[in-house]
Formats: sequence, structure tokens, C-alpha cells
Amino acid sequence: MSSVATSLVDTFGRVHTDLRISVTDRCNFRCAYCMPSEGMKWLDRTDIMSFEEIERVARLLVEQAGVKSIRLTGGEPTVRARLPVLVNKLAQLDVDMSLTTNGATLGLVAEDLRSAGLTRLNVSLDTLNRDRFLELTRRDELTRVLEGIDSAVNAGFSPVKVNAVLMRGINDDEVLDFLTMGRNKGVTVRFIEFMPLDAQGEWSAERVISYQEILDVASEHFEFEAVERGHSPAERFKYTDGKGEFGVIASVTKPFCEDCDRIRLTADGQLRNCLFALDHIDLLDLMRNGASDDDLLAAVAGEVHRKWAGHAIGQVHFIRPSKSMSQLGG
Ligand code: SAM
Repeated sequence: MSSVATSLVDTFGRVHTDLRISVTDRCNFRCAYCMPSEGMKWLDRTDIMSFEEIERVARLLVEQAGVKSIRLTGGEPTVRARLPVLVNKLAQLDVDMSLTTNGATLGLVAEDLRSAGLTRLNVSLDTLNRDRFLELTRRDELTRVLEGIDSAVNAGFSPVKVNAVLMRGINDDEVLDFLTMGRNKGVTVRFIEFMPLDAQGEWSAERVISYQEILDVASEHFEFEAVERGHSPAERFKYTDGKGEFGVIASVTKPFCEDCDRIRLTADGQLRNCLFALDHIDLLDLMRNGASDDDLLAAVAGEVHRKWAGHAIGQVHFIRPSKSMSQLGG
């Protein structure tokens, strides 16, 4: 591996070592808080990065800019044809790689992804109740997702994390059920605070189930202690009886922007320095117009340099990005 030529440091001294890559904006679910049931406008296939283009950016940023971890996401990454081929290409890099999925196809692809070199998996699951699942995702797939989680554990992924977004009046009564499921299946449950990135624009602060509310319920039922979180967005808690851990990603009530080490690449090759960024640079356009590796590196470094201090949710100057999570790559 060549030595790092550029560090991705912003004006607040944050070093960026984590790259999120969205491999598609398409999804096989229609989660009510993420996408409309119909009429989502998909990217044209020719505007989506090829595996070679993704590999070029990833290799450059790992080998020359100090990126140490890559997470593949979407849309739903497993609907991208031949995903294990991409995983295999990226697994050749000296990088910690993981994938975020809704889990519905894991029964079919978990083994292939593991053989291709993926080691860590996050499954998004917001309810353990079948009727609610249908209402929330507009798909009757709860059983397949739960089986998918088992397939991931059996394929040797470690850790398997299950991420749940809790929303007031919708699924906020399921904290204990999720924690129990995590302990029984040997997976790490993480609750994510609901963020103003829903396609319908229905987010409101009242609908957010906060970090503190989640901890209050958890502590009524289990004993646990805080674990050092490092750059992890999750506040982590280890059960004192040794049955694993759980976490809370408190993006709204306890933002972790000052520790943020992430940059994002959308499926159409836009590099964004924050989930809530209003600007981006078009890396795909640069690549398709003959940019050299040095040009690309300089463009990425410049975008990182422009990164703001924090997302400002809840403050008067907060501006909602026009894209939803599925278009940005959650
Ligand atoms: N399809 C994959 C999945 O389901 O994990 C990857 C993409 S999905 C957009 C990534 C994550 O974003 C999911 O965990 C989803 O729950 C979360 N998400 C989407 N909209 C959100 C919002 N407004 N607030 C918090 N999380 C959100």
C-alpha cells in the first residue's frame, strides 16, 4: 500500500477516515418515513457509479487519504445486481468493511457476502410486530427479515447489529422487545433517533424518542454499564450479565458532530461531507471527464475542508436537505 498523501482534515481538526458508499438509490421496501409508497423518482442507471468507479474512489481514499472504514449502503444495497463482486473488489483494500441492509434478502445473500470478504453487517428493523411492519415498510416481510438476521449470524458475521428507529405513537412501546430479541439472538440492538430526513417531511421534534427515554426503559429491566464509544456514533452499553450490549445513536438529542469522521458518496457519485450537507462535489462527473487521481483527491480534500461544525437540527438556522435518507445513503 502506498503511503497516505492527503489527510482529510477539516477546519475543526476532524480527521475523516470513514467512507459511506451508497450503491443504489433503489429499495425493495417503502418505509413510510423514508419514501412515498409510489412515485419515487429513481436515478437513471447510467448516472449510477459502476463497480469500477466505486472501486477507484475507494482505493484512492484508502490508499492515499487515510480512509480506514467503508460502509456500503443505499437505497437497499442488496438489490444492486452482483453486489458480492463489488464486496470482493473492496475486500482487497486494507479497510474495515461493513454493510447496512433491511435484511429481507439476507437468507439468499448472507453466505455469498461473507465469502466475498464482508465481515460486519447492520440490519435495519423498526418493529417486531407483523402488522406494524407491514404498515411501516409497506411490505409483509418481517419473517424473512428475522430469518435473514439468523442467516447473518450463522454465516459468521460478527457483530450483527440491528438498528431500530423509534417514533412516538408508532413503535415507541417496543424498546424492551428489541432488547430481549437482541439478547436472545446474540445481536447488538441500536436505537437511532428519528431525524429530519424523511421523504414526506413529517418529522417533528415531538416524534423523536430520545436517548434518555430509551435508557429509562432499558434500566427498568436490565443492568448495564457504559462502554467507551470512540468514534462510534452510538452510545454503547454492556449488560452486566455478559449477554452482549446495546446502543443508542442520539443524532438529535446528543449530536456527535464534534467527533464526526464520516464522508459520504451517493449512488450517483456526489461526495457529501455531512448527511445534512446542502452542497456536494460531483466526483462521478469529474471521473467521467478525465480527472486524474490528484484532481479527485484535491476535490475530496476541498469538500472536507468546507465541512461545517454540526448539523444544527433544532436551531433556527437548520435547513433540511432536499434529499431523503434513501437518496443520500443512510
Ligand atoms: N436499505 C438499507 C437499510 O434499510 O438499512 C440502507 C439504507 S436505509 C436509508 C439506512 C437507515 O436509515 C435505516 O436504518 C433507516 O431506518 C434509516 N433512516 C431512514 N430515514 C431515517 C430518518 N428520517 N431518521 C433516522 N433514520 C432513518
